Amino acid sequence: LRIAVLSERAAGENRVALSPETAKKFADLGAVVAVEEGAGLRAAVTDEAYREAGAEVGSAAAVIKDADIVLGVQAPDVALLAGAKPGAWVAATFDPFRDRERVEAYAKAGLEALSMEFMPRITRAQSMDVLSSQSNLAGYKAVLTAANTYGRAFPMMMTAAGTVQAARVFVMGVGVAGLQAIATAKRLGAQVSATDVRSATKEQIQSLGAKPIFVENVAGIEGEGAGGYATEMSEEYQKAQAELVSGHIAKQDIVITTALIPGKPAPRLISDEQIASMKPGSVIFDLAVAQGGNVEGSVPDKVVEKHGVKIVGYSNTAGHLAADASALFARNHYNFLSAFWDKEAGKPVLDEEIGDAVRLTQGGKIVHERLTAQ
Ligand code: NAD
Repeated sequence: LRIAVLSERAAGENRVALSPETAKKFADLGAVVAVEEGAGLRAAVTDEAYREAGAEVGSAAAVIKDADIVLGVQAPDVALLAGAKPGAWVAATFDPFRDRERVEAYAKAGLEALSMEFMPRITRAQSMDVLSSQSNLAGYKAVLTAANTYGRAFPMMMTAAGTVQAARVFVMGVGVAGLQAIATAKRLGAQVSATDVRSATKEQIQSLGAKPIFVENVAGIEGEGAGGYATEMSEEYQKAQAELVSGHIAKQDIVITTALIPGKPAPRLISDEQIASMKPGSVIFDLAVAQGGNVEGSVPDKVVEKHGVKIVGYSNTAGHLAADASALFARNHYNFLSAFWDKEAGKPVLDEEIGDAVRLTQGGKIVHERLTAQ
């Protein structure tokens, strides 16, 4: 069985889907692993390190030739995959709701697209979940970037020249990224508060030593849908939340927004009016900027200044920590394929629960129910 890994070609993508550690582990399972020259360089992995781990290193065409499985961070263009075996698997992120054309091209090419971002949120799939592994790093990097952009210190400092006040940090959306943002801001010495639409997060916020900011006694407050994801909230709830949050935001120095709803544009959490209510010199980091943004006026990869407030957001936040992000992404791939490894067949055989959840295309067709049901 041949596993191929290409250099990522999307603009600003520094990650790579294989680490030397996982190359060796795949080889131990009996696979031949091939990596494109230079694929790991932006994530601080040399060709030599892959070779030492037992991988072949070569041109894209040589690597792809007769591949059974292709691993990616972002799904490669179909044109790059000519030469792979018919029906080859491609495990990567596909952003399938926004990039349907790519999914159609994979179907047409007879490839089997496995969408890593559709990994179900069940306990046994936790170690395979790229959204979690990457969001955790993104939450950390968001706080560091905000701290760097902020013209004041995070911790309280009592000095001979006078006292520096602790920064007030407010985290909106307490999923994987938000929890890490809270923990990181606490470590830096900030005064931290947080909110979410899922009431289950209240306890998690408190357990990290931060203050929960929650609307009480409004219908539709649970906000939790299938698989632990957020659902869209009732109008009544949205109004009450906006009022509570407005008052709170005006007193913050740093706001980190992380709210996402799968398959939908990111919910708008901060309006221009709310930005105007903040003190000059405050910073907002919009982790959802690439999904449409939680913050009015945020622009990917730009520092936008409005009413004296700096608004920041990366289109690929985890990619700013490419070495760690790649190592964890590679582990997610390995944990996924190795969990289903059939020793006799010498290849992975997916079960229904996880296979059906991640498989977008098969036998020349789009097969995923979230893409076929309209
Ligand atoms: P996400 O990236 O989908 O969303 C980020 C957060 O934003 C979520 O907490 C969501 O509730 C919140 N949000 C959405 N709309 C909002 C709004 N209008 N205002 C405020 N907040 C809003 O979420 P995530 O990080 O992937 O995690 C969601 C949950 O799923 C967590 O409880 C997490 O622990 C769980 N999870 C479980 C697994 C697993 O079991 N394999 C894997 C990943 C995540």
